[in-house]
Amino acid sequence: MNLFLSSLAIIGEKYLFQDKYLVVPGYQAGNVLCKGLIQSGVNWVNLRPETPTGLALRIAGEHLAIHRISVLSGNLSLIIVEELLQKLQEEGNLRYFAGQNITQGLAAALSSAISELRMCGISSDALLEEHFICLGKGKDMKLLLQEYEDYLLEHSYLDQPGLLSLALNLVPAYQAEDAGDGGDAGEGGDAEDDQPIYLVPSFYQWKPLENKLIRKLARDRLLFLPVETIAMKEELPVNTDVELLSWLHMPELAPSPVGDDSVSFFHAYGITNELRHVLRLVQEKKIPLDQVSVACTKDEYIPALYSLSRMMGFGLTVFEGIPVALTGPGKVLQEINNWISEDFSVSALIDLFTAGDVVLKSEQSEEIPSIAAARLLKTSGIGWSRERYLLLVKQARHHQESENADRLSSLIQSLFKRIPLENEEGKVYFRDFCSGLAEILQILSNVKDELDKAALSTITSCLEQIAAFSKLELGIEEAVEKTADMLESLRVGQSGPKPGDVHLTSYRNLIWSGRPYTFVVGLDADTFPGAFRQDPVLLDSERQMIHADLPLGLDKLEEKQFLMATALASRRGEVVLSYPSYDVVENQDAYPASILLQVYRLLEGDADLDYSDLLNFLGHPVGYCSQHGDNPLDEVEWWIYQNLAGNLQDAAVVGKCYKGTARRLTSARARQEDVPTEYDGALTRYGSTAPWGGEILSCSQIEYLASCPFAYFLRYVLGIYPPDEVSYDPTRWLAPLERGSLLHSLFCSFMRKIAIEGEVVDPVKHKNILLEMAGELVEQYKDKIPPPSDLVLQGETNEILECCEVFLATEARRNSIPCYFEVPFGLGQQEVEKAGCGLADPVCLDLGQGRILAFRGRIDRIDQLAEGDYCVWDYKTGSAADYGEQLYFNKGQQVQHALYALAAEEILRQISPRKSAKVRFAGYIFPSRKGEGWDVSHPVKNRELLVSLLNTACEVVESGTFVASHEASRCRYCEYATVCIPESAVQRAKNLVGNRIAVRLDPWRRLQEYV
Ligand code: SF4
Repeated sequence: MNLFLSSLAIIGEKYLFQDKYLVVPGYQAGNVLCKGLIQSGVNWVNLRPETPTGLALRIAGEHLAIHRISVLSGNLSLIIVEELLQKLQEEGNLRYFAGQNITQGLAAALSSAISELRMCGISSDALLEEHFICLGKGKDMKLLLQEYEDYLLEHSYLDQPGLLSLALNLVPAYQAEDAGDGGDAGEGGDAEDDQPIYLVPSFYQWKPLENKLIRKLARDRLLFLPVETIAMKEELPVNTDVELLSWLHMPELAPSPVGDDSVSFFHAYGITNELRHVLRLVQEKKIPLDQVSVACTKDEYIPALYSLSRMMGFGLTVFEGIPVALTGPGKVLQEINNWISEDFSVSALIDLFTAGDVVLKSEQSEEIPSIAAARLLKTSGIGWSRERYLLLVKQARHHQESENADRLSSLIQSLFKRIPLENEEGKVYFRDFCSGLAEILQILSNVKDELDKAALSTITSCLEQIAAFSKLELGIEEAVEKTADMLESLRVGQSGPKPGDVHLTSYRNLIWSGRPYTFVVGLDADTFPGAFRQDPVLLDSERQMIHADLPLGLDKLEEKQFLMATALASRRGEVVLSYPSYDVVENQDAYPASILLQVYRLLEGDADLDYSDLLNFLGHPVGYCSQHGDNPLDEVEWWIYQNLAGNLQDAAVVGKCYKGTARRLTSARARQEDVPTEYDGALTRYGSTAPWGGEILSCSQIEYLASCPFAYFLRYVLGIYPPDEVSYDPTRWLAPLERGSLLHSLFCSFMRKIAIEGEVVDPVKHKNILLEMAGELVEQYKDKIPPPSDLVLQGETNEILECCEVFLATEARRNSIPCYFEVPFGLGQQEVEKAGCGLADPVCLDLGQGRILAFRGRIDRIDQLAEGDYCVWDYKTGSAADYGEQLYFNKGQQVQHALYALAAEEILRQISPRKSAKVRFAGYIFPSRKGEGWDVSHPVKNRELLVSLLNTACEVVESGTFVASHEASRCRYCEYATVCIPESAVQRAKNLVGNRIAVRLDPWRRLQEYV
């Protein structure tokens, strides 16, 4: 037992039957201490852990009930401060804070400042404006404090300082009543002995009002529980090095070290490796888990150790609790928030439905498998936006999974019912938003264990409390942010040490428990004690003026050091201190905290040692496995060590254990070879007797092959397509393809109209007609694809209208007569009838050598130049950068103009069989802002060269050599970049193309010559 616990034991024994209040900052601390006594073999009776707030409630409880006064939690005080701030700002009553956005951060800082002032007993009357750095700030603080006091009074609320003040006033009456009760206690009873005694940890820094209440209530029955200090140790011999930790701040006065290894150090490569090494040490020393306490200096250690405990299957208790965000209901709330802030995007909803944290049931409680829900949503075409979920109703009517679609639609509509609609100002009542979220969580959450159960109850009760209090009206984004902030502050599963479990605690609460093995992690200088920071609202200079009891920024650092020193001095058994010497997120070194140097000096018995001595002593950091390969925590550590130690010469061993790794090694080796292998897209067997498998080709298919054979292979040979999902992008409405098809359809309809009316395009006369047609088409597209916001829709509509103007200007310059539009070939009779001309069958081209290729397509426009002379145009809605008159075929990436010219001649011959129609040139029009109204035309010539190019392309396909492109520029818009990893694929392709031994690439090399 340490001195703290043994003092408690002695007092407990001395005043065995007397009522004893153990005054602690939280009930859990008291319970842990009481359990600690029992575990040390000390029995106790009439010992009650109590907090100052609990004492205040005992004193004032009756008064509160009679006067119907409610006590507020800290969360609600924050909401009130925020509402008051908002109100003061709207009324124009703020000066210093007038220009500030009332964010949750600002409200939290002001709420904490108000609480600190009130904990010192400072009221708005006593707060002087001149004590602030400027009068405006003083006036604002005074006004806010006054409004806060008035609000509490008006609504019959008390916050914690208010409750303590009330209790302080009621103490005399309470004591008198208690003394009266004591007098009646029994015949011969001593009234004084019946009065409770108050036991208070000597080291704890109470807030001023708490301190006053404890002292006023206890009077002369106040006993302080001592902790180890140098003064108390002076006379005693030191038996182990752990006991030296009492001399932390005065190593020069410390006795000589014992050298029993009861205190040790290490540093590690990042937080996770630090914690893993703690577990390795526990395993190596065969320490029972319930003998271990891990004390951390920052919250990041909680999720890290929690996730290790889940992964490795050991029990963990956390004194401060686990963040609710790590629990199922916490994740569900985050996903719902994502869904709302992404304008109800289907992909966010699919994430929510498939993460395993929800149960999907219709309003009639019929279950919907999450996979079925995801499938239905993917194929629904909804994309995003609340209104578009009505498409599910349609889907329910026609889909083969109509039952599930029906249930899903009913479930989603029931969620929408609970998410308030924005009013005309784009705002919702925060209370409605919170109560809706609470209900949604109850509907969806899949409660898998006790922690989930506690999390669901904590989150929903917090949301319901806000719903009961808040009068705020917020934009939906703000409402989402606020609930996300709330989630961050909630914890569940707070627990003292339990049998069989490792115990994790903040170093601030380490003193309450006394396990024999203590690991203190996170002792890097940046974290402990951290940098000096002033409070952002009440500056140190202001605090000094306002009240002597208001703590200063510097005091907070000292308090941290003091708490750590007290906790370490209270340890028995073994202590291991560590820090992460490398921040893997920030990618930078970290250095040991000064307290580590002090401990090192104590252990070495040399007060003059410095950081360089300490760093030399510490040696290399602990990494991803133990230094000698012993006691690996899992398979991964074992493999890492074997690899580092050079024990894996025989790679086949790895391959035998891990098939995926074996395949990766094989492919990596294959990609080192001089010639392309199947891992580069060079197939061992491929081909068909008919050229190109006898397929009817589109021109774009050939251009796709010429752009990148590997992408061609994925798309056209393996038939792999990116998922057909409408994904939410708050900055974009139409994807380039959709925008292109809108413009194609617009220009075609417009030009047909002009041609039917026998007119010539006149930018002035026809502007309104074209813009009107564009407006109608935009409306139609709006129904099909919901715009993410009015702003984005407006921006993109403006761009489309701008394209119309560019188009009119280019058409006015043209001296050909537009005749035929969107002319199909090879697309069947129905398409020909729709267009009014064209060829039902494909256009065939004899390439010689027994190769005949069949093509299909749709020609945007055929214009007449003169009697029997025509030209062909294709609209391109992107930039003209990759097109140029000097690039006739552009290495096979531009063959459309040549092939369309051939097709057009056949079509024209069919339209007027007796006239010999000639296509003189073919080209591209760029009617957009990016394309600047350029047109690029190519004379129709050199059919032999086209045939030769097509033969070469056939050879590429027939050779089955589908290597990646060796030009990175082609990867810019590639849909397969995520599966191809272009950085390495392009480099590998460059090496292969440059290596003449790779003869399989000859057709591809030749194709590059067709510029
Ligand atoms: S990313 Fe580049 S190399 Fe890879 S498939 Fe696409 S275009 Fe080809």
